[in-house]
Amino acid sequence: MSKPCIFCQIAANEAPHALVYEDAECSAFMDIHPLGRGHVLVIPKQHAVQITELDGTFQDRLFQVARRVLKAQRQLGWGLQGTHILLNDGKAANQTVPHAHIHVIPRESRDSLKSMGRLLLHVTGLFGPRQKSAVLQQQAKALRHEIDRFQE
Ligand code: 5GP
Ligand code: ZN
Repeated sequence: MSKPCIFCQIAANEAPHALVYEDAECSAFMDIHPLGRGHVLVIPKQHAVQITELDGTFQDRLFQVARRVLKAQRQLGWGLQGTHILLNDGKAANQTVPHAHIHVIPRESRDSLKSMGRLLLHVTGLFGPRQKSAVLQQQAKALRHEIDRFQE
């Protein structure tokens, strides 16, 4: 049998990741090639390539978790000037990991050059160096703390 996809492994806690949030259906964790400070991915725990493979309620749930992440990032001062909430839904839309996910990417007014360089590496599938695990863990811990402080 073939190995489950990397995000299924993360959802099952079988691959290392910096966990931001989880419940029975969804998981959120730090992106290893962040396009902005504190870049988070929100995924369904069940495998689906495109978002339309999930029923409407489940799709809404993912966006609800993405909104909670966005709120937590802003409490920490990340993305106050702007955030991408991004869904690359299918190969032609630059989806490189075939497991549905929503990106929540905080931006800063003066980070365009750096972010564009990383975005170019992202769309070409090269990605470049990974963010240090210690940095991702520290950001995830700060986000978990903020998410715990509020209920939706
Ligand atoms: P996509 O192009 O499919 O929308 O984005 C996939 C994202 O997944 C990329 O931003 C990439 O950095 C991230 N990614 C790929 N592999 C891993 C991994 O093993 N762990 C984590 N945390 N992120 C990953
Ligand atoms: Zn999967």
